[in-house]
Amino acid sequence: MMRAANPVPVYERFGHLARRHPCFSEEAHGRSGRIHLPVSPTCNIRCRFCERGFDSSTLRPGVTRQLLAPGMASQLVARALDLCPELTVVGVAGPGESLATSHAVDALEAVLSRFPGLIGCLSTNGLNLPARVDRLAEIGVRTVSVTVNARTPAIWQKVYAWIRYRGRKMTGQEAARILTAAQEQGIRRAKGLGLVVKVNTVLVPGVNEDEIEGIAAWAACCGASLMNVIPLVPAAEMAQFPVPDCQTLEQARRLVEKHLTVFRHCKHCRADACGIPGAGRDFAADLHGEARQETFSHG
Ligand code: SF4
Ligand code: SF4
Repeated sequence: MMRAANPVPVYERFGHLARRHPCFSEEAHGRSGRIHLPVSPTCNIRCRFCERGFDSSTLRPGVTRQLLAPGMASQLVARALDLCPELTVVGVAGPGESLATSHAVDALEAVLSRFPGLIGCLSTNGLNLPARVDRLAEIGVRTVSVTVNARTPAIWQKVYAWIRYRGRKMTGQEAARILTAAQEQGIRRAKGLGLVVKVNTVLVPGVNEDEIEGIAAWAACCGASLMNVIPLVPAAEMAQFPVPDCQTLEQARRLVEKHLTVFRHCKHCRADACGIPGAGRDFAADLHGEARQETFSHG
C-alpha cells in the first residue's frame, strides 16, 4: 500500500485558512460559522445510500427546506451575516451534486464578489471536478471536499449504482474507472491551483471498511490535506444497513491517521445549514422559512 511519509500537521500547511474554516479545523468548529447555499437541484451519479428531500427537520445531508435560485444567493448571505456575524465560510453541499449544473459556480461567484472576505467552499462527488476546478479557483473558491466512497471496482459497485457522463448513463467497471479517474485528476489539479482539499468517505459497514486506508493513502498522494470518515446514515437502497458502531468508526479513523489528518467533528449538516456547526445553533429556519414541496430530478 502507498504510504505518505509522516503526515504534516494540518495547521503547518494551511493554518491561516484552517483556523477560520469550521470543517477543516477542530479549533474553528466551535467558533466559526458556515452557510450552505442549497442551489444544486440534481445529481450526475447514484450513491445507493442517497435520499434527498425537502423538509424542515431531518438532520442529514441532501435535505433542504427549498432550492435556492443562484441569483438569490448573495441576498441570502447578506441576511445570514446579520443573523450570524461569525460566518467565515460560504459553501455549496447539495442537495444534489454541486458540479452537475452551473448553479453552484454561479451562486458562489456572485457571493464571493460581494463578500470577498468569506472562504468559498464546495463539496462534490468529483465527476465534473476536472472540467470545473479552474473556474472554481478563478472565482475564489479555496477549499473543496471530494467524496470518495470506494476505489476498487467490486466495492465501488456495491456503493454506487451508476454515473451519467457526457450524456451517457454508465454502470459497472467502466463507471467506476471514469469516476475514480476524475476524482484523482480533480484533486491533483485542485491542489496544483492552491485549493485545500478534504476527502469525505462514507463508511458503510460490511462494504467499504477495508477500502478506507487505501483511500486515505491514495488521497494523501494526490495532495489532499485531510479526511473525514462519515458514518453511514442508512437510507434508500441501504436503509437496512447498520450504522457503524463507535469501534468500527474509530478503527477506520486510526487507519486514516497513518496517512492524513482526520477531521472528527462532522455534524452531517443539511444542504441549507447556517451557523456555527460546533455551537449547535442553526439559522436556516430564519432564512428559508418552512419547507416547500418540490420535485428532484435524479439526473
Ligand atoms: Fe446523493 Fe451526493 Fe451521491 Fe449525488 S453524489 S447521489 S447527491 S450522495
Ligand atoms: Fe462541516 Fe460536516 Fe457539516 Fe460539511 S457536513 S459543513 S464537513 S460539519
